[in-house]
Amino acid sequence: DRVRIRTALLSVSDKTGIIELAKALSNKGVKLLSTGGTHKAIAAAGLAVTDVSDVTGFPEIMDGRVKTLHPTVHGGLLAIRDDAEHQTAMKEHGIEGIDLAVINLYPFEEVRAAGGDYPTTVENIDIGGPAMIRASAKNHAYVAIVTDPSDYAELVAALDTNNGETEYAFRQKLAAKAYARTAAYDTAISNWFAEALNIATPQYRTIGGILREEMRYGENPHQTAGFYVTGENRPGVATATLLQGKQLSYNNINDTDGAFELIGEFSAEKGPACAIIKHANPCGVATGPTLKDAYLRALACDSTSAFGGIIALNQLLDAETAEEIVKLFTEVIIAPEVTEEAKAVIAAKKNLRLLVTGGLPDPRSRGITAKTVAGGLLVQSRDNGVIDDIELKVVTKRAPTATELADLKFAYTVAKHVKSNAIVYAKDGQTAGIGAGQMSRVDSARIAAIKAEDAAKAMGWAQPLTKGSAVASEAFFPFADGLLSAIAAGATAVVQPGGSMRDAEVIAAADEHNVAMIFTGMRHFRH
Ligand code: 5GP
Repeated sequence: DRVRIRTALLSVSDKTGIIELAKALSNKGVKLLSTGGTHKAIAAAGLAVTDVSDVTGFPEIMDGRVKTLHPTVHGGLLAIRDDAEHQTAMKEHGIEGIDLAVINLYPFEEVRAAGGDYPTTVENIDIGGPAMIRASAKNHAYVAIVTDPSDYAELVAALDTNNGETEYAFRQKLAAKAYARTAAYDTAISNWFAEALNIATPQYRTIGGILREEMRYGENPHQTAGFYVTGENRPGVATATLLQGKQLSYNNINDTDGAFELIGEFSAEKGPACAIIKHANPCGVATGPTLKDAYLRALACDSTSAFGGIIALNQLLDAETAEEIVKLFTEVIIAPEVTEEAKAVIAAKKNLRLLVTGGLPDPRSRGITAKTVAGGLLVQSRDNGVIDDIELKVVTKRAPTATELADLKFAYTVAKHVKSNAIVYAKDGQTAGIGAGQMSRVDSARIAAIKAEDAAKAMGWAQPLTKGSAVASEAFFPFADGLLSAIAAGATAVVQPGGSMRDAEVIAAADEHNVAMIFTGMRHFRH
């Protein structure tokens, strides 16, 4: 199962390390074949290398669209070496076996990420490269296929150890990686198309990405993990720059994503806003006259849970805010921009991770989310419903006041980002209490009220912020009990989707307590 490398085909867009590899192969007496640009680079280094065109007897045509798509190349890659018929075909057509293919593709992903225009992006769809990679990988019984420059060293070491031959197990491993590469490549192309054409339907989308980094572990230390980037051009944790701090962990990335998607609801014109996230749920969200105020008001909601949390900000992080943030142990800060002074303040906390995104994600934009189930993938369009766009229906005798309405919208926006069942109390653009992830809605309402009482005690307030607050439920109240619990905590206005069989009962309970209630008609489940 060992194969001597006699002939190698080198065709790479990313020429990192290719000269060194060509030299090493050449020293082992390997005959080198190569395409235009790669040939030029290798020849310039003074090495003997044959142009593929001389092998095919056919020039590269159509700006390189057709250069290796030829039976001489593909026959050389695909021939079963010990099959008599294949041998005859090789002799008859003058096909020489190719034992090693070193190929990396046109930089489609990079061009897409850089926002290349339509024709440029299309031109960067590699055709011959994937065909050769797939052919070589299929024929891994005889051919070694290297698609990643970071594998060159291992290849050379393997050839050194095995006297110029490759072992079957190594070729198998290389083939597995090769198909992962072509799959990721085609995924990037399909998702670029879906984005370019603004199509969200699943038939036009593929889920997948390129491995950005392997993590030390997953959600728990005994789980392995990797971070794959899809190339979606969305400000957030995948596209941000890490200015300082340790590598992000699996949980950091998940929680930071939740934090920044939530803060994306607060565009600049809504004024400064801050969200503090723990375990993908917000433990405090607030707006404020300054960013520092917004942070302190968010923190006041649940300062106990905020310990070790993720902080997302919707605008330029300044030194005053940074000085407040570093007083508490925080895992990650994510913001669109940071001042030099704020960077200096944060630098004092070496392990604190600081991410800068350059902008806010648009909550209205389309896109997809996915999660795995046993044997499958669930894919859906992103929840891009925004309450400002919804025609709200007042269902009670009393309509909310302007202040109540503002808080209802604020609370509902936060509730969209809270695990179901979600109950969020808010007052004056500040969360008063958040009940997350309970199996019963009435429990979420009670927990949120308890948290508000704890906050009042911690802050030395005379009464919890739930007194005279607005409350949001991300899905309908199936019974009046959840609503009554919220009223008992002091809520005077309620927002919920409505649509329960018992809506009439719930509305009557609200009217009885002179509570104003609005229906949105849009649910925000988050399971
Ligand atoms: P070079 O810089 O050597 O001229 O081109 C190398 C690139 O061309 C590699 O990324 C390789 O995948 C790609 N390539 C090789 N053969 C073909 C082909 O027949 N058609 C297209 N479109 N790309 C090819």
